[in-house]
Amino acid sequence: MRLVVTAGPTREAIDPVRFISNRSSGKMGYAIAEAALAKKHDVTLISGPATIAPPRGAKNVSVITSDELHDAVHRAIRGCDVLVMCAAVADYKPAAVSARKMEKRKTSFALRLVPARDILASLPKRRRYLVVGFAAETHDLKRNAQKKLRAKNCDVIVANDVSGSETGMESDENEVTIFFRNGESKKISRTSKKIIARELVKIIAKMWEKSLTKKSW
Ligand code: C5P
Repeated sequence: MRLVVTAGPTREAIDPVRFISNRSSGKMGYAIAEAALAKKHDVTLISGPATIAPPRGAKNVSVITSDELHDAVHRAIRGCDVLVMCAAVADYKPAAVSARKMEKRKTSFALRLVPARDILASLPKRRRYLVVGFAAETHDLKRNAQKKLRAKNCDVIVANDVSGSETGMESDENEVTIFFRNGESKKISRTSKKIIARELVKIIAKMWEKSLTKKSW
């Protein structure tokens, strides 16, 4: 199976020294890449600025901004079997990037943000690869995840609750519920991201194998 996995945060520049980003560590995406490599799958890992070392054996692509990630994903998905969009891509970016460092002011000011490109939404509706999206939620996890599954045209959404510090972003552990298009779901209770990654790779590989015989998910 040929997987493209995205991981980590993106950075959206405000000026040459400042940016908007998020707390994503890249751990979940890197664990998925490692679990897939361990099962001898072919992995392209596209990562935003993460602090951990990329796994050996993957084709590693580094990106900074959501626009760079968008372009890297579109290049990598040609000929892939599965896209796992684990990256915490910016939802908004500054409307303009200041070429010079912005000087400190004594008064308050507003920074105008515009929506960043939604990478999942930019994928073709008819395609030959399976798409796994992620949803990090602080509330209404089930409702929001099921909405995203359809709105973002994913085959699977992996939802995690990021309201606490024990699981989700930056943590070594996670607790996820996986939502499928047929309405089914599967919960993986709190455990290490490495174990969750192995389970996810198993589920994805099964869906992919089925698709080879059925020609659909
Ligand atoms: O809407 P939300 O950002 O919660 O959706 C999360 C999912 O969408 C993740 O799979 C993430 O990688 C993807 N995403 C994207 N492009 C964006 C923002 C998020 O593809 N600009």
